[in-house]
Amino acid sequence: MKKSMQKKHDKLNNELDKLERQVCDTCESPFYSNREYETMCPVCYKLDKNYKILKSDKQCRCLQDELSDCYEALDEIEERLEKIQKETRRYRREALKLSKQNNSKSIDRSMLRKMLRLCHPDHQQNSKKKEVAQEVTRWLLEQESDSK
Ligand SMILES: [Zn+2]
Repeated sequence: MKKSMQKKHDKLNNELDKLERQVCDTCESPFYSNREYETMCPVCYKLDKNYKILKSDKQCRCLQDELSDCYEALDEIEERLEKIQKETRRYRREALKLSKQNNSKSIDRSMLRKMLRLCHPDHQQNSKKKEVAQEVTRWLLEQESDSK
């Protein structure tokens, strides 16, 4: 952007900073004003007073319509997001319930210790039984570490 043009933009932006967002009573589109008594957007105001509608007014109306479409899309997205969040909470609750059920089904820790003591491979004289005892001990130890 040229320097002279940039200056004009800066000047305009400074003026726009003083305006506050309002909502038109007639078309419900946002418009910007620093006068509280203004309740209509410039386009509705001109239509109401039968003033000449200029090219810039048409541009303004097009942008208002575009904005309105954006708000509608945003509402839809927010609605969908809310549904998804609701579902997520439901799934979390279900997962928590299931994990509690699974925990209560797992072998009691003190019972696990007793089983480990009972089938300790050192208690077995027979080498085949010793092998089986080792296998069972390994499995029991796995259950113990899973339940932690
Ligand atoms: Zn309006």
